[in-house]
Amino acid sequence: MHNEKNQLFYESSVRFDPKRIRAAAVYCSDGRFGAQFDDLLHNALQLPRYDRLAVPGGAACLARHFATYREDEGVFEQLRFLVNVHGLERVVLIAHENCAFYSERLRVSPLQLETQQREDIGKAVRRVRSLSRTLSVSAFFARKHREDTIRFESVDF
Ligand SMILES: [Zn+2]
Repeated sequence: MHNEKNQLFYESSVRFDPKRIRAAAVYCSDGRFGAQFDDLLHNALQLPRYDRLAVPGGAACLARHFATYREDEGVFEQLRFLVNVHGLERVVLIAHENCAFYSERLRVSPLQLETQQREDIGKAVRRVRSLSRTLSVSAFFARKHREDTIRFESVDF
């Protein structure tokens, strides 16, 4: 809606497409990985316009850690909303190396970190599937390769 109070600041040149892709990704908020997550989703998985559920720790918040049960409840409800209202058919989970949510919030030691993340992905997948039996779920682990490259490994669960 335009009125005198609304001063145009910027018009995006990215065209708007109203069609939903019926896919969502759950990943960590860490903005250093944002562009690479988009690249994986858009180009490798061919999921443009996917719904984003970016929260600190990503799938950690679907793994029922007692220390973060409030986050857990919130993320699960948000995902339930997207499944029901946006008609999700596919969910992609992405964890990343050296996630600060694990070291700072869950107090996981650096040596245990990746093991814990992979275990959490397994738990998160079961939790996601409890929302709808027909959801297709996949998971990836983002790892730094050399100084400025991120590689994604697929995670089995
Ligand atoms: Zn993180």
